[in-house]
Amino acid sequence: MKSNPKNFKFKHSLGQNFIIDEFLLEDIADESGITKDDFILEIGPGNGALTKCLCDRAKKVVTVEIDKSLIPLLKSNLKDYENVSIINADFMELDFQAIINEFGCESNITCRGEACEPSYGGVLRAPIKVVANLPYYITSPIINILLQNPYVSEMTLMVQKEVAERIVASPGGRDYGILTLACNYFADTEMIMLVSKDCFFPKPKVDSAVVHFIKHPVGASTASPPTGEFHESNYDQLFKLIKASFAQRRKKLLNSLTNAGFNKDSVTHALSELGFDENVRAENLSLDDYKKLLGFFS
Ligand code: SAM
Repeated sequence: MKSNPKNFKFKHSLGQNFIIDEFLLEDIADESGITKDDFILEIGPGNGALTKCLCDRAKKVVTVEIDKSLIPLLKSNLKDYENVSIINADFMELDFQAIINEFGCESNITCRGEACEPSYGGVLRAPIKVVANLPYYITSPIINILLQNPYVSEMTLMVQKEVAERIVASPGGRDYGILTLACNYFADTEMIMLVSKDCFFPKPKVDSAVVHFIKHPVGASTASPPTGEFHESNYDQLFKLIKASFAQRRKKLLNSLTNAGFNKDSVTHALSELGFDENVRAENLSLDDYKKLLGFFS
């Protein structure tokens, strides 16, 4: 694509590896399942190549680029599209509320497939679908923000292949950990594409993958007896327990939790009630197991 300025200096520090494979751009936009009703937030448009594909499919695209020097190029490359707004900002400091107020689509008053709750402040005019080839230096913080933001209903994200493997990992494997559990807590995840490093310029050192996230309805909980229902207000406690469990992931869970200050007999009892012996390791427990385990200590 002829859209990079001749003398543009790619900034490694901003994770600037642009997609140069046009088929890949179309594939990502197709796989993200965008429709003409959708409100899309893109993080890091770069030269706007993926943005164009999103504009072709969506009702509205808001795209947030931190690098001021790319804004004139973006404006020029996207000048034929009326349904795009370019924002020069750091995504990490983005005010979602302001974005919604300014750019929200008016027709689609649902969020995650359900009518808007008053808890959204009554201003949500459309759920936001996020599509992005992420700047890899801030992958985890961005994913955390998106997972926790109730306005976001779906995400289609290009991430480093190793990170994708951790996101979609199953219990028992070495990739399974805190990131997996955090993603499971908020969303169903699926790796939908593996992407070679040859598809980018400048060529990065690592391969990539695209992961699709579908967020759970707000308030959903899969925990069940014997420990009672899990409430979302227990989130901080749950992730304290999970972080303590994985702090020394090669050790037995019993030892990790005991070292973190949990009573050894109580942990042994709780694990046995959940059907685990005392040799079990942190990576063997599902999110539901952790929710139940927390019930023994709250
Ligand atoms: N979307 C383009 C593509 O797929 O070819 C470029 C993707 S490139 C991997 C990441 C982009 O994110 C770069 O344009 C970079 O300047 C931008 N970026 C980096 N940090 C950012 C931040 N904190 N907020 C918004 N954009 C950021």
